[in-house]
Amino acid sequence: MSTAAHDDRTGRHKVVIVGGGFGGVQAAKALSGADVDVTIVDRTNHHLFQPLLYQVATGILSPGLIAPALRRVLKKQRNVRTLLAEVGDIDLDAKIVHAAAPDGKHIDLAYDTLVVAAGATHAYFGHPEWAEHAPGMKSIEDARLLRSRILGAYELAEVAEDPAEQQAWMTFVVVGAGPTGVELAGQLSELARHVLPREYRAIDTRKARIILLDAAPAVLPPFAKKLQKYTKKTLEEKGIEVRLNTMATDMDADSITVKSPHGLERITARTKVWAAGVQASPLAELLGKASGGEVDRAGRLAVDPDLSLPERRDVFAIGDMVSTIDRLPGVAQVAMQQGTYVGKLIKARAKGDDTTPAPFKYFDKGSMATIGAREAVADVRGVKFTGWLGYVMWCYVHMMFLIGWGNRLGTLFNWVRSLRYARYRGHRLISVTASYDMSENAHDDESSVVSAHPDENVEHRGALDPRTAPGTPAPPQDSPAASA
Ligand SMILES: Cc1cc2nc3c(=O)[nH]c(=O)nc-3n(C[C@H](O)[C@H](O)[C@H](O)COP(=O)(O)OP(=O)(O)OC[C@H]3O[C@@H](n4cnc5c(N)ncnc54)[C@H](O)[C@@H]3O)c2cc1C
Repeated sequence: MSTAAHDDRTGRHKVVIVGGGFGGVQAAKALSGADVDVTIVDRTNHHLFQPLLYQVATGILSPGLIAPALRRVLKKQRNVRTLLAEVGDIDLDAKIVHAAAPDGKHIDLAYDTLVVAAGATHAYFGHPEWAEHAPGMKSIEDARLLRSRILGAYELAEVAEDPAEQQAWMTFVVVGAGPTGVELAGQLSELARHVLPREYRAIDTRKARIILLDAAPAVLPPFAKKLQKYTKKTLEEKGIEVRLNTMATDMDADSITVKSPHGLERITARTKVWAAGVQASPLAELLGKASGGEVDRAGRLAVDPDLSLPERRDVFAIGDMVSTIDRLPGVAQVAMQQGTYVGKLIKARAKGDDTTPAPFKYFDKGSMATIGAREAVADVRGVKFTGWLGYVMWCYVHMMFLIGWGNRLGTLFNWVRSLRYARYRGHRLISVTASYDMSENAHDDESSVVSAHPDENVEHRGALDPRTAPGTPAPPQDSPAASA
């Protein structure tokens, strides 16, 4: 094992941050100007704005607008070094983070203080095999795969001759009616009813069936009742079938079986999307075992009020991978505020302030979710907004949280264009092989195009789907709540 000398830049206090998402980046930023050397390590080279992934999946935004290079995000901060590597182990006694570079090279990062902000992934409630049939949205690769499946489904419907076959391709099921599920279902309806109809000749895309289901009795479970009712009504007006108290019990490439108060039902649907459950990064369990910390059913590590690990003042864990005593939701604002808190705490300690810090306190700025174009619900400190006003607020908040003026302006341009010009979708590039993947899954037919290009197909799957990439932790997930 080689040990990279990433640690001896200045001989100063070494802070290693694992994860360049919302929590990790805020922690690094809060350490700006501190007398410490910071190394931020992430297995991707970008900082991903997950709340807009569904817009990549439905062709509104290009991936680059919501995933700026992490290195660029932190380029002005001279005390930060960015590394592209996957963390596989952490030795809390030796104070070393073990990581692997993309070429497999081992990197050992010694630290004085460690911040772990590795986020979460999808959870399939004990059915990891469903991931293949109902991918979730957690990474740029996930969103691109979904875009290929969604738009590819219409391509396959166009060439299908049997009406039943066409309808199977034009039936979309979204599992999970939290903010992500609602936002995605809304955009699927926009695509079917407003964007695509004039582009196809053999099919009428307005006949697409979009089903949003959830085991809970209401959509947007964390929102106020009034907003839940408004959202359900608006979804139904958009032609979406909202099925509540309904849970997925089985699925395959062709269908999904659901259980509702009316019994079991098999729905023929080739495109399923998972927006239902979350599981913390496996690093949470690893830290729990090493420190004696507790891990809950969703794999989240319990942390102390100052977000450190029990008996480990030098190790902090933040964001989606932890649980705090006040059971905070897995949203970006929590991760960001925790990152800032921990960064400031480390900065104060570097200045010699060793007093016991006040516990972390979350400031809830509110929650919001879109319901297709021009419709959203927002709850800002108890004040509720719906419709166009909610949508404008949602746009403003999400645009301001994007990193970089170029990305903000590019996003705004795409939004205005998609609203003004017949809901224009400018980013509809799909991988043809991914569509053929679906065809193969659906028919298992020797004569299909897939079987004609077996090698290409396998290679493509590996490239598109992170779950098949080596070293990728556990199964995929979604966020339980959206927060402004
Ligand atoms: C589709 C979707 C929509 C969402 N919508 C909203 C919304 O509208 N509003 C809202 O507030 N929240 C939303 N969320 C939730 C929000 O994105 C998360 O709460 C937030 O990203 C958590 O921040 P984090 O820093 O804990 O983790 P993340 O932002 O996920 O960052 C984790 C980082 O760690 C890296 N990493 C993981 N494991 C390793 C490893 N072993 N080695 C190296 N690097 C690693 C990852 O690559 C990633 O960059 C949404 C989430 C999803 C998936």
